Amino acid sequence: MKFSIAIHGGAGTITRSMMTPEKEAAYTNALSDALAVGEEILRNGGSSLEAVEKTVMALENNHLFNAGKGAVYTNSGTHEMDASIMCGKTLEAGAVSGISNIKNPVALSRVIMEKSGHVFLLGSQAEEFAKLHNVAFESPEYFHDDFRYRQWQEVKDEETYQLDHAKDKKFGTVGAVALDQHGNLAAATSTGGMTNKRWGRVGDSPIIGAGNYANNNTCAISCTGHGEYFIRAVVAYDISCLMEYKGLSLNEACELVVNDKLVKFGGEGGLIAVDKEGNICLPFNSEGMYRGKANQDTRSIEIYK
Ligand code: ASP
Repeated sequence: MKFSIAIHGGAGTITRSMMTPEKEAAYTNALSDALAVGEEILRNGGSSLEAVEKTVMALENNHLFNAGKGAVYTNSGTHEMDASIMCGKTLEAGAVSGISNIKNPVALSRVIMEKSGHVFLLGSQAEEFAKLHNVAFESPEYFHDDFRYRQWQEVKDEETYQLDHAKDKKFGTVGAVALDQHGNLAAATSTGGMTNKRWGRVGDSPIIGAGNYANNNTCAISCTGHGEYFIRAVVAYDISCLMEYKGLSLNEACELVVNDKLVKFGGEGGLIAVDKEGNICLPFNSEGMYRGKANQDTRSIEIYK
């Protein structure tokens, strides 16, 4: 009975000095609770797809993370969320971008994968599709969070978006990757994107191969960081390719992409990865990354370097 799962709640300038014990405990508990959701599914023989979806839903339902309930504000004071999911066994994938009222964007991405005949749906028309499939909606008030609102108020009149905001440079996207007892890999990622984003900006999270990827021959990956760089470096697929075509181990591929290629490029962030043997890597080139991992025997939650 062998399984592996890893989760993240975003990377960035997360240092001990910026934390209070209460805040640290809140993040640690939230990560631990979400991880437990996936662990239970995998321990009971459930699929990695089910595990990553339900784990990411738990993170989306927590206002601490920039996804679902805690999604950041756009320049016009709305929420535009992105998510994706991929099955490593079939290489099927589903993704959605620019949705405002869906409670769990990752759940919609799974329905898109399984029922739309397409991979990627956009905005209000994706919400029309969601209605047809009884995906849960929420009102704008559900997505309001005082902290997120203040973050947006501080930068809303500037040309910049939050990732250039030195005071609180962190990316709160969430994700999960898993290997189930049947040897199948899956990955899921969900985000509100960047505070104060505009013009329909889309990051790496819903882009298959950039912020999310799974392939039973290699690995499952979910990224968090400065999305523009992760798109240009095709990060998730690059790691899979380095394993498939160059024979690198998961660890070698992750190190090369996150701590060499992305650093030279200026791309800050990290990712979570699991390979078909159940090895887990959680590399990041930022100060910290909210993260957790578990297999059939052990589990751990970490925040700092
Ligand atoms: N990668 C996400 C984006 O660029 C942000 C994040 O990781 O928090 O939209």
